[in-house]
Amino acid sequence: MTHLTARSAAAAALRGTDPVRGLTTRQPWTSSIAYLGKRIENRSRVTTFTGWLMVHAGLLTDREAIRDAPRDLTHLEARGAVLAVARLTGCHRSVDCNQACSTWAQPDRVHWQLADVVALKEPVRATGALYLWTPTEELRQAVAAELTR
Ligand SMILES: [Zn+2]
Repeated sequence: MTHLTARSAAAAALRGTDPVRGLTTRQPWTSSIAYLGKRIENRSRVTTFTGWLMVHAGLLTDREAIRDAPRDLTHLEARGAVLAVARLTGCHRSVDCNQACSTWAQPDRVHWQLADVVALKEPVRATGALYLWTPTEELRQAVAAELTR
């Protein structure tokens, strides 16, 4: 998908009835997905969900990782907000790729594979949750509007 096509496909999915989930991560990982090309999310659990995700910055910060993050990383200060949408295409265990799938891949983790990441122009405030959460209809419409404004 081209960037433009991914943007319109995501907006259409949010406005329709496709299952969509929220994925809460701690900064700097959320901005790294949205702006640094991070396409592997390291998790402890497998998931069977595939489809569009709202990439959400939780309220907590990964204090160790944020020390190494670029100071000018876009929306690095954002907390409690959706920064991007992305498609979750599947997942695999680190033993199956030897951490070779991505420079972001960590050992002894499940690698969730992201594609078609589209950053929002402005973050959309939202309350997250652990694991995968189901966004409200109001949030779906708000993120769709931000994608297409
Ligand atoms: Zn991998």
